[in-house]
Amino acid sequence: MPHKRNPSTAIKYLFRALLLRCPACGTKPLFHRWYQVRSLSNWFSPLDGCPRCGYPYEREPGYFLMAIWAVNYTFSAILGLVLYGSLEWFFDLPVWTLMAGVLGPVLLFSVGFARQSKAIWLATDLFFDPHDPKSGDDDGDQRLPSPNDAAPPAAQAPEPAGIHAGATEK
Ligand SMILES: [Zn+2]
Repeated sequence: MPHKRNPSTAIKYLFRALLLRCPACGTKPLFHRWYQVRSLSNWFSPLDGCPRCGYPYEREPGYFLMAIWAVNYTFSAILGLVLYGSLEWFFDLPVWTLMAGVLGPVLLFSVGFARQSKAIWLATDLFFDPHDPKSGDDDGDQRLPSPNDAAPPAAQAPEPAGIHAGATEK
């Protein structure tokens, strides 16, 4: 998959993220559809990878932590600041009303924006650090098998244990 790091690619990836689609091919969803959701974890967890192009969504444990701490937190904080500034500027509210008027919408936004945060994080990672398994620059990431792939070669017999055992010992 050729990857060009330019503004139009960034906009394309961001657009796919906001539609909650695979950032790499833009056709398949990142998450279960609403009628397939069975639990809260189901709702918030991305699928393993794209069923069409095989792009893996969660590459390592904790991969989406930055989606929450960087993307979701940033957007929520900006919303909170704008809300606080507007309420403080235009209305003379008691402090508890002011806090409720800021924290309520921010919390709702944060939960509602969780899926988009993960999608934006994934698209950002693809933009800045594309994982192309054919280039050998995939940082060891595994690509999921895609239906378009040819049949995998037959599994090789494992090497007998003990041959390399002494080579790594020091
Ligand atoms: Zn895809």
